Amino acid sequence: MSTSGVRVRIAPSPTGEPHVGTAYIALFNYLFAKKHGGTFILRIEDTDATRSTPEFEEKVLEALKWCGLEWSEGPDVGGPYGPYRQSDRKSMYWPYAQDLLDKGHAFRCFCTPERLEKMREDQRANGKPPGYDGHCLNLKAEEVSARVAAGEPSVVRMKIPTEGSCDFRDGVYGDVSIPWESVDMQVLIKADGMPTYHMANVIDDHLMKITHVARGEEWLASVPKHILLYRYFGWDEPVFMHLSLMRNADKSKLSKRKNPTSISYYSALGYLPEALMNFLGLFFIQIAEGEEMLSMDELAEKFDPENLSKAGAIFDIQKLDWLNGRWLREKLSPEEFIGRILTWASENDRLIEGLKLAQSRITKLGELPNLAGFLLAGDVGIKPESFASLKTTPAETLEILQTVAADLEKMLEWNVETIEAELRAVAERTGKKLKFVTPPLFIAMSGSSRSLPLFDSMALLGRSVVRQRLKVAAAAAAQLVGSN
Ligand code: GLU
Repeated sequence: MSTSGVRVRIAPSPTGEPHVGTAYIALFNYLFAKKHGGTFILRIEDTDATRSTPEFEEKVLEALKWCGLEWSEGPDVGGPYGPYRQSDRKSMYWPYAQDLLDKGHAFRCFCTPERLEKMREDQRANGKPPGYDGHCLNLKAEEVSARVAAGEPSVVRMKIPTEGSCDFRDGVYGDVSIPWESVDMQVLIKADGMPTYHMANVIDDHLMKITHVARGEEWLASVPKHILLYRYFGWDEPVFMHLSLMRNADKSKLSKRKNPTSISYYSALGYLPEALMNFLGLFFIQIAEGEEMLSMDELAEKFDPENLSKAGAIFDIQKLDWLNGRWLREKLSPEEFIGRILTWASENDRLIEGLKLAQSRITKLGELPNLAGFLLAGDVGIKPESFASLKTTPAETLEILQTVAADLEKMLEWNVETIEAELRAVAERTGKKLKFVTPPLFIAMSGSSRSLPLFDSMALLGRSVVRQRLKVAAAAAAQLVGSN
């Protein structure tokens, strides 16, 4: 419980596989709360109804729990300022929008998507910065009421000062000054009545009494909008801290095209949550060489939010591997080690379900490791030759792997039925029979053409492992194309 009044939150949007970047920001907030005797809160930001799903929300909660980052208030545990899921708070936001409209801090905008698209096109063509042009800014009150009464769709936008700049202090970036002319007249309430991220985020942070907002640097440019909303409402603003993004070794933004970024990938491969937290926590502290192995309590003790770097946190997998190996070898008793293996192997029921699937294809129990081992393996040893004896040509194999990889990203739900439907759709779209589409996938998933049923295996492996295996397989298939 809070002894200091410090209240921090992680506010993920459940629109995809939980990302290690979310764990990184969550860990910062968790350690911040721990260090200050404060409260760590989880809030689900699902105002984007088309991309948010209950499955992803469940995965976010599961992934953060696996990391050991427990929250004291959240959608699953409740708390004094709930509900903690924005879609459940929908009715709370409108009075605040009305208040802004009444005070003249916001206005109704009736511009159609077509007009906005045309406006953007013109701005692009004239080399002007994108942003709303103020078309509806000065409509007469009577006209607005009449159009609203007639049922014409509209959004609510915030007014932005036309001169000067928004000056604020960021806990990481120091003094920041952003000219108002670069800030867009942000939509606060969408045509369907849902608030946008900016509106819901500020209102919720205020109502949930958040004292410090620590999040990724991609939000730094939004701070003027947020500060302006706090001022319009007459509320105190929280302290802002924008953490540098995690990057690939080549300094590019960490993305799943280069590195696996899902927390579930790391848990599926047998990284210990302690090692992952240790690895991420090192970005928030100053230590000498040889002191890298730290538990959560030790991280909290050494946690140093005053001295964060803006340089970007490099996601160095070799360092993570090194730490993970040390955790496995040095920090666990043999009994604990075995316990961890059993828990890990049973994750998502993959062991039990995999054994059940194996039963229909087995002649001797000794075949089990070869038949089902791929469900647990980190790497299934794919080489270009792995695809050499297929009926599909190397170019077709590559096309199948790439098409399926792209399609799987669009799936909202991940289970045997949705996977089967998706692969059938791929077969139909590409004019190939399903029996040509599946063999390259069998090999990509298991390293062998003799393994367990494909759709079930993909469901058990999980989206993030499947993504990585398809990527490795496509790289191998591309080599085969190149050598032909
Ligand atoms: N929902 C936002 C995200 O997922 C939260 C940003 C914030 O912490 O304000 O990045």
